[in-house]
Amino acid sequence: MILNTEYDVLIIGSGAAGLSLALTLAEHTKVLILSKGPLESGSTAYAQGGISAVLSENDSFDSHVDDTLNAGGGLCDIETVRFTVKHAPERIAWLIEQGVPFTQIKNKQGKLEYHLTREGGHSHRRVIHAEDATGHAVVASLIPKVIAHPNIDVLERHISIDLITGKKLGYQTQRCLGAYIFNIDTGKILAIRSRFTILATGGAGKAYLYTSNPDSSTGDGIAMSWRAGCRVANMEFIQFHPTCFYHPDAKSFLISEAVRGEGGQLLLPDGSRFMDKFDKRAELAPRDIVARAIDHEMKRLGCDYVFLDISHKSADFITQHFPNIYQKCLDFGYDMTCEPIPVVPAAHYTCGGVVTNHDGQTDVAGLYAVGEVAFTGLHGANRMASNSLLECLVFAHAAAENILQQFDNVPYPPQVPEWDESRVTDSDEEVVVSHNWEELRRFMWDYVGIVRTTKRLQRAKHRIDLLLREIDEYYSNFHITNDLLELRNLTQVSDLIIRSALMRKESRGLHYTLNYPNPAPLAHNTVLIPD
Ligand SMILES: Cc1cc2nc3c(=O)[nH]c(=O)nc-3n(C[C@H](O)[C@H](O)[C@H](O)COP(=O)(O)OP(=O)(O)OC[C@H]3O[C@@H](n4cnc5c(N)ncnc54)[C@H](O)[C@@H]3O)c2cc1C
Repeated sequence: MILNTEYDVLIIGSGAAGLSLALTLAEHTKVLILSKGPLESGSTAYAQGGISAVLSENDSFDSHVDDTLNAGGGLCDIETVRFTVKHAPERIAWLIEQGVPFTQIKNKQGKLEYHLTREGGHSHRRVIHAEDATGHAVVASLIPKVIAHPNIDVLERHISIDLITGKKLGYQTQRCLGAYIFNIDTGKILAIRSRFTILATGGAGKAYLYTSNPDSSTGDGIAMSWRAGCRVANMEFIQFHPTCFYHPDAKSFLISEAVRGEGGQLLLPDGSRFMDKFDKRAELAPRDIVARAIDHEMKRLGCDYVFLDISHKSADFITQHFPNIYQKCLDFGYDMTCEPIPVVPAAHYTCGGVVTNHDGQTDVAGLYAVGEVAFTGLHGANRMASNSLLECLVFAHAAAENILQQFDNVPYPPQVPEWDESRVTDSDEEVVVSHNWEELRRFMWDYVGIVRTTKRLQRAKHRIDLLLREIDEYYSNFHITNDLLELRNLTQVSDLIIRSALMRKESRGLHYTLNYPNPAPLAHNTVLIPD
């Protein structure tokens, strides 16, 4: 239920970034937090592995910094990396204070200590985790506190449509004044005014046909900020996970890389192995090489998936090592103890986003972006595993401090106009929305996916220009629906991805193009500036 239309702080998004920011600010300010679905519907709840931080005596900040820089392919911002790494231990301590049940083990002296795992790219054990469901443990600890807090109002099933800015209202100064939000259940649109507005809307994996991301990852924050006049950077760097379970109903279901680590083999539809043609480490090659090899074979053969087979191991071994994956595959009719399972690479993480500084501030005064939606310079051309939840926490805290410092000097915004629906009607052509959703995600997958060429990108650009025009016209004429809002944002973000990919005339990190297979001598960010 909406209690108010005026808040100190409006937080759009309830993942690790939004929840931690809300709890930090709520001691001093009145906060509204929005979510498109239930509060736990973002990517955060899906995170399995954990959160990186230097927590062991054998580890060091320098080592965490070096590993992040190595993964980032020469494009990380070193100051951002240092800033993030330095603040990591205190953010983990905060999560522990909030009651996140990180996994503990007994050390040699019989004392309990937090268990740290080691993931790809990390030279030390530094990934703190809660079994294999870290993100779920984080949201399960933070959500009840957010709901119970007297200074936090929560609106689920509400979508922010667009930011309200001074310039849009004809003021001389450009400041974010709040947002228009759409109630999915009633179709009503509210204008929320806020002294500070935070985009914590997550990534844009849904731009692709296959993704490990939940339905909420439609790049809304990136699209809204772009329309409000913010710079957006490095959108071409989309991280693909090599193995997502292929099944029409098995949304966002990752097959852990540990299956390959324990001897799982990738097979073509005729049952032959292929990874050794691409890398001498075969199935144990790094994530991006495996994803690229699968993509190459799928495009060459025109098939929709390849197979992952670990059935040569004993049934006991498989069920003991992979109880969740085994059960989930079984639920969908595949018994991995005696048959291969169909897999496909999937868009997993959006490295680029809205340009921010170390306080999470964007180019528009009063507007912040935190978490996967933001481009801080931390990930460079490739994100190192478990650095993303960390980025949410570190920058949420920095943004909260910055907001509190300015708090007394920023007045409430003036009244803003109600949403005008006088010139739109009910659509008699909903098929346009569903058709364009499918078309967009298919051509993004085929032409702007793991392996790119200039020709494919140009084809995609041609199609996206048509879609942008068609959706713009549709948006101007018909009543809003949540599908239309998400499609509009995905189309906008896909355009930014394609434009960035066309601008990068080299292969670096996650951007691989057959036309420019090598990195250029000088690394640079791709920064797009709105008109
Ligand atoms: C399967 C999977 C496994 C992962 N494993 C790890 C891991 O082990 N370690 C790690 O560090 N990272 C991992 N990641 C990445 C990490 O989970 C995400 O980067 C991180 O959770 C993003 O958090 P966030 O708060 O930025 O956004 P999210 O958690 O995605 O939350 C976004 C929120 O914004 C809301 N929202 C979006 N648009 C709107 C709108 N227009 N109006 C209102 N609300 C809106 C959504 O409803 C949601 O509440 C994983 C990701 C996936 C998908």
